[in-house]
Amino acid sequence: MTDSLNTADGALPAAPNSGARAQPFTIAGTVIDPGASATIAIPVSNTATGLPASLYVRVLHGARPGPCIFVSAAIHGDEIIGTAVIQRLLAKLDAASMAGTVLFLPVVNIFGFQAHSRYLPDRRDLNRSFPGSARGSLAAQLAAKFLKEVICHCTLGIDIHSAAVHRYNLPQIRIAPDNENLRELAMLFGAHAVIESPLRPGSLRDIARGEGVDMLLMEAGEALRFDELSVRCGVNGVLNVMAHLKMIQPHPEATQVTIPARSRRAIWVRAPRGGLCMLQQKSGDAVKKGEVIGRVAGIFGDDAQEFRAPIDGIIIGHAVLPVVNQGDALVHIAEVMRFGDVEERVDQITEALLNDRLLDEDELI
Ligand SMILES: [Zn+2]
Repeated sequence: MTDSLNTADGALPAAPNSGARAQPFTIAGTVIDPGASATIAIPVSNTATGLPASLYVRVLHGARPGPCIFVSAAIHGDEIIGTAVIQRLLAKLDAASMAGTVLFLPVVNIFGFQAHSRYLPDRRDLNRSFPGSARGSLAAQLAAKFLKEVICHCTLGIDIHSAAVHRYNLPQIRIAPDNENLRELAMLFGAHAVIESPLRPGSLRDIARGEGVDMLLMEAGEALRFDELSVRCGVNGVLNVMAHLKMIQPHPEATQVTIPARSRRAIWVRAPRGGLCMLQQKSGDAVKKGEVIGRVAGIFGDDAQEFRAPIDGIIIGHAVLPVVNQGDALVHIAEVMRFGDVEERVDQITEALLNDRLLDEDELI
């Protein structure tokens, strides 16, 4: 596996395949010349004010032919980490030196985003509303437009989520099971963990598969928050995938860092009682079956009940709000294929991401 996490000090050169020039790219009735970028507003519906609401896409159409992919964020309106990832990518990428086309959607759920909410004003979950319908609910209208104008142009999508509110996710890629192409992309993305999980009906991943579009779902960080590790992981991962697809040159000092944690099964550990939770382990820590992960006590600190890891694994998500009800999901543990050195590998990925100067905000590609 080639990865690109090492320190770099130069700008990336242009994409490798030269010669042929791309054809103009048409999206939602707008034509974009090769080597140009454009911001497109795709009309979706009206807001409650009666004013138009649109889905905004920044298109980077490379000078040379190549695949068309999309990178989307905030399908759940409060999961904004991908918005930060896209902002940083847009500052680094230049269509003139690229091959192929990228459609960037920093905020898909425009309605929930404004309300700091996962959902739409009609209380639907956009990620359960595909394929949608032009005559359906607001969520259905948005899903239908996203499918028709974005997904159907592409062969690959990278959809970026964070944990739900008051939770944190270790950066991880989720993919459909038993898809060798996706597995390869997920591994070279370079996130801390790769989880193969079944597709939920009505989800973007589910509908994309029906259209023959491969999907990488990234989960990282916390809702309504930015954190540097998650942003860097997303930026690095998208660049790694683009380099693999020969849309840009690989990282000049690309090197193999390590193999991410791999899992096909993850289990939530829940609060044994209501009260205040003190976690002794956090995301990225390896835990052995039976090991104490935390305790929940009453408001006087009395009657503390410990809770333990039900399996050997790595923690891929944890609650950050200590006030818990009995049964609240507190710690998400993934059973991994190579347990022995998993924590060291995860730490190496963190260190490489945080030290990679190419991922800095002001470093150009
Ligand atoms: Zn989400």
